[in-house]
Amino acid sequence: MTHVFHRSAKSLPPTAARGDGCYIVDADGKRYLDASGGAAVSCLGHSHPKVVQAIKEQLDRIAFAHTGFFTNEPLEKLADHLIARAPDGIEYVYMVSGGSEAVEAALKLAHQYFDEKKQRSKRWFIARRQSYHGNTLGALAVGGNMWRRDQFAPILIDSQHISPAYAYRDRRDDESLEAYGLRVADELETRIEELGAENVIGFVAEPVVGATAGAVVPPPGYFKRIREICDRHGVLLILDEVMCGMGRTGALFACEQDGVRPDILAVAKGLGAGYQPIGAMLCSAEIFETIRDGSGFFQHGHTYMGHPTACAAALAVQEVIEEENLLENVRDKGAKLMERLAARFGNDPHVGDIRGRGLFIGIELVADRSSKEPLDPALQIHAKIKRQAMEEGLMCYPMGGTIDGKRGNHILLAPPFIIDDAQVEEIVEKLGRAVDGAKQEAGL
Ligand code: PLP
Repeated sequence: MTHVFHRSAKSLPPTAARGDGCYIVDADGKRYLDASGGAAVSCLGHSHPKVVQAIKEQLDRIAFAHTGFFTNEPLEKLADHLIARAPDGIEYVYMVSGGSEAVEAALKLAHQYFDEKKQRSKRWFIARRQSYHGNTLGALAVGGNMWRRDQFAPILIDSQHISPAYAYRDRRDDESLEAYGLRVADELETRIEELGAENVIGFVAEPVVGATAGAVVPPPGYFKRIREICDRHGVLLILDEVMCGMGRTGALFACEQDGVRPDILAVAKGLGAGYQPIGAMLCSAEIFETIRDGSGFFQHGHTYMGHPTACAAALAVQEVIEEENLLENVRDKGAKLMERLAARFGNDPHVGDIRGRGLFIGIELVADRSSKEPLDPALQIHAKIKRQAMEEGLMCYPMGGTIDGKRGNHILLAPPFIIDDAQVEEIVEKLGRAVDGAKQEAGL
C-alpha cells in the first residue's frame, strides 16, 4: 500500500535505503551497481564524504534564503566556478532546480532577448527529432521525443524539427561521416530560410543526444557548421547539456569537444550529482547586457532558484571533480568500458552499434545486424533488459523508440566518474547476463 503517485501506477520499485560509492543498497540489503547514474546524474556515486559534509555545513549556516531578497555565498561561488571554466563569451549563470527548468529559462530568455532588441517577429524555435529537452510544456514542445510529446501535442507551442545527426541509421553508403554531418546541419539553414530568419529565435540541440537515442555523438564538423548558420542568420544557438554536460563526456562542457560556443547553455544532472536538485542556465555577456540595459529584469523566476544548500552541494561536487582529477578517469574508464563492451557484444547478432563519448555510452539493439532492422516494439526488449539487470543488481537505462519514438531500442550507460576497473568488469558481466536473459525471455 502506498500513497505515492509513482512513475508507474501499476508497480512499486524497491526502496533505496542507502548509498555506498557506486552502489545503491535497497531496504533488503541488495546492492545495485549504478551503471547509469540513475539517468546520468550520480557522477560521484552515492556517498561522497566531501559533498555530504558541504551540505551539512551549509545547513548549519542557512538552508534557504529567497533570491528576491538575498544573494548567498554558495550561489556566487558556484557561478564563479562555472564561468571560469565555461566556453568563451559565456559570462552569467541563472541557477534553477533541474534540467527542464534550465531549458525553460533558456527558451524564455532567448525570446525576451529579441523582444528587448525590438526584433519582435521572432517566434520559432528549431530543434531536432529524437531529442529530449525536458517534460515541462515549453521544453517538451521543443523536444523531438515523439513518445513523450505526442499525447500532449494539442497543448504544446508550435516548434520546428529537423533531422537528428544520427549517422548509424541515416548516413548514406556513398557519404563520408563529415559529408553526412554537413548535409544534416544544412537542413537548419534551409528551415531558417523557409521560415524567414526574422521569425526564428534559436536552434536547440543536445551536443551528444542522451536518453532518446542513446549517446549519439555528432559527426565531426557538424556543430561548427550549425554555429556558422546561426551566426549568418542571427539565430541563437542553445545547447542542452543537461545530460551530456558537466564532465560526462570527458570535458566539463561537452560542446568544447566540438569546438563551439553556444549563446545559451543548459546544465543540470551532473552539476549537483543528485546530492541536491539543481540546474543552471548559462548565457553570453551580450544577452545579459541586452536585458540589463533594457528592462533590467528577466521576466522569470522560481521560488527555489539559487538555493543555498543545492549550490553548496554542487560547488562541492565540482571541486571534487577537479581535486580528484575525475575527467581523466571519465576518459580512461570510458575507453575501457567501450573496449570491454565491444568484446562482450561484438558477436552478438542483436547488438547493432556501440557508441558514445567518455562515460556516456549507448548500445543499440537490432533484429538484424546487416539490415539494421529494429526489433519488434511489441517485444519491449528494453523493459525486459531493465528488469533482468535489476535482478542482477545492475542499474542501466534502456529505452525504446530510438529511431522514431516507436521503433528501435538502446541501452544507455552513464556510470559514476569514480568507477574503477573492477566495476567496469562488473558492469559488462552483469549487463551481458541481463541482455542474454532478456533475449531468452523474448524468444530471440
Ligand atoms: N534535457 C536533457 C538533455 C535531458 O536529458 C533531461 C532529462 O533527462 C532534461 C533536459 C530534463 O531534465 P529534468 O529531468 O531534470 O527536468
